[in-house]
Amino acid sequence: MFEHVVRTSSSDEMVNITSLVRQDVRESGIKDGIAVVFVPHTTAAVTINENADPDVVYDLLGILRRAFPESGNYRHVEGNSHAHAKASVVGSSCTVIIENGQLKLGTWQGIYFCEFDGPRSRKVYVKLIPSAAG
Ligand code: ZN
Repeated sequence: MFEHVVRTSSSDEMVNITSLVRQDVRESGIKDGIAVVFVPHTTAAVTINENADPDVVYDLLGILRRAFPESGNYRHVEGNSHAHAKASVVGSSCTVIIENGQLKLGTWQGIYFCEFDGPRSRKVYVKLIPSAAG
């Protein structure tokens, strides 16, 4: 398993981590299989979305802010229920197929670490599973 540290610099932020995962695939030497990217946090997440126009992730963060306001009739005393809700909706893992030693992502897809309660130092785990055939 590969472990990465992602340092975020604002309260909510999406960090493109595709190159980290590509590097893990290269180092592993795995030609065909599955990559699982997992975030071991309750106020952060991981997702796949557009890597070309940075306005897409900007808009996604705005949509999440409007859907999950920071203040509300929340009980959680830590005061970050909005961040917990965003993390659950976006999800703590994503899976990508590895084929011919490459991540089988679409042209416009990137893997994004999603910070919802930063800035913090965060972890990302990458597990690469070779297929039985190769
Ligand atoms: Zn909390």
